[in-house]
Amino acid sequence: MSKNTKAVAKKHVKTKASTKKTTVKKRVAANYVYAFGKKTDGNATMRDLLGGKGANLAEMASIGLPVPPGFTISTEVCGYYYDNGRTYPASLSKSVLQAIKQIESQLGKSFGGRSNPLLVSVRSGARDSMPGMMDTILNLGLNDVTVEGLAEISGNPRFAWDCYRRFIQMYGDVVMGVQARSEEEEDPFHEILEKMKRKLKIEADSDLSTDNLKTLVDQYKALIRKRTRSAFPQDVFEQLWGATSAVFSSWRNDRAILYRQQYAIPAEWGTAVNIQAMVFGNAGDDSATGVAFTRDPANGEKVFYGEYLINAQGEDVVAGVRTPNAIAQLADELPQSYRDLEKVRNKLEKHFKDMQDFEFTIERGRLFILQTRNGKRTGLAAVRIAVEMQRERLMNQETALLKIPAESIDSLLVPVFDPKALKAAPVIGKGLPAGPGAATGRIAFTAATAEAETRKGNKVVLCRNETSPDDLKGMLHSQGILTSRGGVSSHAALVARQLGKVCICGASEVVINYEKKTLTAGKVVLKEGDYISIDGSTGLIYKGMIESADSEVKRVLEGGLKANKSYTYELFQTVMSWADKYRTLNVRTNADTPAMAKQAVAFGAEGIGLCRTEHMFFDGERIDIMRQMILAADEVQRRSALKKLLPFQKKDFVGLFKAMEGRPVTIRLLDPPLHEFLPHDDVVRRQLAEKLGVPFDFVIDRIKALHEENPMLGCRGCRLGIIYPEITEMQARALFEAAAQVSKGKKAIKIKAEIMIPLVGFRAELADQLEIVHRVAAEVMKKHKVKIDYLVGTMIEVPRAAITADEIAHEADFFSFGTNDLTQTTLGLSRDDMGLFYDQYQSKEIYNQNPFASLDQTGVGKLVELAVERGRQTKPNIKLGICGEHAGDPNSIDFCHRTGLNYVSCSPPRVPIARLAAAQARLRNK
Ligand code: PEP
Ligand code: MG
Repeated sequence: MSKNTKAVAKKHVKTKASTKKTTVKKRVAANYVYAFGKKTDGNATMRDLLGGKGANLAEMASIGLPVPPGFTISTEVCGYYYDNGRTYPASLSKSVLQAIKQIESQLGKSFGGRSNPLLVSVRSGARDSMPGMMDTILNLGLNDVTVEGLAEISGNPRFAWDCYRRFIQMYGDVVMGVQARSEEEEDPFHEILEKMKRKLKIEADSDLSTDNLKTLVDQYKALIRKRTRSAFPQDVFEQLWGATSAVFSSWRNDRAILYRQQYAIPAEWGTAVNIQAMVFGNAGDDSATGVAFTRDPANGEKVFYGEYLINAQGEDVVAGVRTPNAIAQLADELPQSYRDLEKVRNKLEKHFKDMQDFEFTIERGRLFILQTRNGKRTGLAAVRIAVEMQRERLMNQETALLKIPAESIDSLLVPVFDPKALKAAPVIGKGLPAGPGAATGRIAFTAATAEAETRKGNKVVLCRNETSPDDLKGMLHSQGILTSRGGVSSHAALVARQLGKVCICGASEVVINYEKKTLTAGKVVLKEGDYISIDGSTGLIYKGMIESADSEVKRVLEGGLKANKSYTYELFQTVMSWADKYRTLNVRTNADTPAMAKQAVAFGAEGIGLCRTEHMFFDGERIDIMRQMILAADEVQRRSALKKLLPFQKKDFVGLFKAMEGRPVTIRLLDPPLHEFLPHDDVVRRQLAEKLGVPFDFVIDRIKALHEENPMLGCRGCRLGIIYPEITEMQARALFEAAAQVSKGKKAIKIKAEIMIPLVGFRAELADQLEIVHRVAAEVMKKHKVKIDYLVGTMIEVPRAAITADEIAHEADFFSFGTNDLTQTTLGLSRDDMGLFYDQYQSKEIYNQNPFASLDQTGVGKLVELAVERGRQTKPNIKLGICGEHAGDPNSIDFCHRTGLNYVSCSPPRVPIARLAAAQARLRNK
């Protein structure tokens, strides 16, 4: 190692003293560099410090798997880097030099040396893997001198120059920012390459001669100089620090930020950087590189799954530029390597006790493992792998439950293509099934179009030759993704699986022309905006739109399919029965109709936690009577409308009680922002006047009188029942009359009614409404000579209710947290109007997650905790639940469990997710 290289290393490592102006926010430990290889410092438990990749490389090295030596710069350095103006701790350069020396001595190579040069890869590695979101540089250490050394030692100058041109391209792109300047522009390096191939009339990169590659190197260097006005660096340490900084910086690129938002990964975690000796899959026809999964990540089946390319480097497989071969073919091409790989497959699964996704390289017949991680998988695969691994005794039920992301259950319930419609649909092509499910939508050729179309309310299928991390946003907006190139571990496939998107990739007969905006499959030519349908389970591509049908699980639950005919149902049922065994939180549903209630019960709901009675008045004739009631000028008129509403209301309640078959039913009294019910359009207002037999001006005057500047904070919730007690009286009467009817006769159902008063902030408000409810209950019970089991409670959905929960609890049998309004009122943020600034708040990472989707535990959550504590001070056994949208969100469910609520109540389709999340919460917080 020369003095010069040490000096370069130092130059890039500014000390604290040289960055006076920046504040040091975080103290970091002294050890920043962890080796793996002959001597290994870390292990699999050190993910926080070493990132997932670094921790697993260390673990694999220590169990004797063939891992090329290297070292990890810890995530703490990432924190330091950002806290200190993108500089490094003073001692880092020394540790890195030592670690490089260790690799040099293990391999007998020298970094920057001519005779036997050491080349390294520089890769990111966060605590949770973020595939393709951050940067990677391969073949680092090559320059005009070492390339000659590599040519000599390998006896293969073509290989050496191929590595060099790849390195310049990657370094130029990732570190020096030489990239396509718009979505329509090709990558400039790729353009140079293609131009040369066209000129030479050759098809494959492998047909380029050594001299061609040398010319490419010159052209790439010239491109870099032209675009950046700097030369491609020849000093290997300058290269190393340039690459290291690029990888740390990529933690904050747009893709990584978006990905973190999607998966709620905190920005503070940071990434580690892994520097590892290169091995070469492009050293000849006895060399290869590939990606393998120990089981099928798309459907979870226990088969060896993966793909490889002979004589290639890793990025060729992942970038999807060449479509690789299926792993089974390796058994014929390189049989010994295939057997070695099978052994590694078994050892990895047994050791890590989870499905592994690993990268390998075969260099002249010798197998190396470059990375392993728990494989990303579709929801279906997650469920199947967990259930089958439990049956194979690789894990117990508790671990298996924790391995299934709660949302995954949804992928067993989503619609599939309607079998009849499918038969009639024209198949236009086939690709690799990479993300199961059915997707129909309009063709979008760019991520930007996909986003724009979805914002207009259209469904799209994103169709690309291959996707890159820049397409993430477009992929998120699409129903499904179709690519013409790339294999089952291409970027498109990996990301789609993780996002739970339907995906077909490598549909090689499909020709996508971005310029003409056409997709051609055989004789069929489709344009952007045309409908296409893809089945990510079979890989078939269809022209046009196809109707969808219920999933197998749903059909079994609803009696349309026998349970023993569906393996998917068996998986679903197994997981649900485990979940019910471990959870302590009850799961109810928010349902306003008997149909919703029945669906929820089929999914396992144990009661109704919220029936929004205002939703019962939206339809048909009722809306007019409801409007009549709202517009009434006095009590007489109002009572007359209420009298007409009562029978409807009673019938609805009868339906709900019957559908719930004795389970508790929480009915919330009317809580309409009144404006939602009144017509805005003069034509409809005129029609309403006619229907009600009142003058048009009367309608207009009443609407004016009822106008509220801020209806969400206006005459809503219990305020309505307080100023118009006859409304509460009608609802209570309808409810108790329904209960009385259903609890008598041959098919009598035992009623457990819970009447809920909304938007209470004062004890006196609740007391006022309670008096009416109890009075009407007594009247009805007396009239029908029945006893009805009922409770009266309140929603906690304004901060004052939470703060004074000890007072309110005197009146309430239960609290149900209305976290939609509680979030709205605590954050002072309208639940209907956050669209204007939400995107910016997300990209600035002010909100990690939408506070209306996942509970703001540090803010709103504190009020919930306070109300629980104070409520129980007054009434130790007060029943506590939550019925805001958060009740279907796994993270929020975890919070509810920790806070000691009795139940969560979510929309019917989320009931299975909530059951699983509730079990996981219990297991996680044991
Ligand atoms: C809530 O505010 O959380 C709630 C469930 O009530 P709504 O959404 O009907 O206002
Ligand atoms: Mg509310």
